[in-house]
Amino acid sequence: MKRSRKIILLCHCLLNANSKVEGLSQYKGIFKEVIDIIGEKNIGVIQLPCPEMVIYGIKRWGHVKEQFDTLFYRSNCRKMLESIIGQVKSYIDTGYEIVGVIGIDGSPSCGVKVTCSGDWENDDSSKDDITHTLKDAKEIKSSGVFIEELREYLRQYHIQIPFIGINEKDVYSSLKDIQEFLNKE
Ligand code: SF4
Repeated sequence: MKRSRKIILLCHCLLNANSKVEGLSQYKGIFKEVIDIIGEKNIGVIQLPCPEMVIYGIKRWGHVKEQFDTLFYRSNCRKMLESIIGQVKSYIDTGYEIVGVIGIDGSPSCGVKVTCSGDWENDDSSKDDITHTLKDAKEIKSSGVFIEELREYLRQYHIQIPFIGINEKDVYSSLKDIQEFLNKE
C-alpha cells in the first residue's frame, strides 16, 4: 500500500495561474518549482478554491482586504471551505498528517502574514481617479479574509496546522522558505 499519509493544502493559484488577477502571475500554469519540492517529499495536495474567482470571476481587478471584509464574502468563503474542512478532519481522524497550508502573501484573500490594505472612504479626491486609489493600496501585516476564515474554521474543530505564505511580488524568493517549512515535517 503506497501512500505517504501526508497532505498539504495549497491556495488555488499555485496550481492554476489563470485564476489570478491579470498581470499578477509570474508563472504560466502551475508553480512548478513549488510543486516539485512537494512532490519530492511525496506529499499529496488538496487544492483550495479561489474565492475571488468564484465570487468575482476572471474579469475582476485587484482589490484590498477592506473590500472583501464583508459578511457576504466571509460566509461564502466558509461555504467554499466546508468540504475542505470535512476532508481535513477525516484525514486527521484516520491518522493522516496535514503538513500545512501554503497561501499567497500580499493577497487580500489568501495572504498569511501580509495582505493588501487601502481605505478611501470619505476621501473625495479618490472618487473620480482610479489611479489615485490604486496608489493608496499598501501591504500590511495581517492575513487575507479567506485565510482568516480557514484558520477560524479549523480552530472550531481543534485542528492545528502550520501556515506559510509565498511572496506574491516575487514568488521565487520564497522557494527556500518553502523548502525549510517542509523540512520540518
Ligand atoms: S491568491 Fe487566492 S484569491 Fe488570489 S488568485 Fe490565488 S487563490 Fe485566488
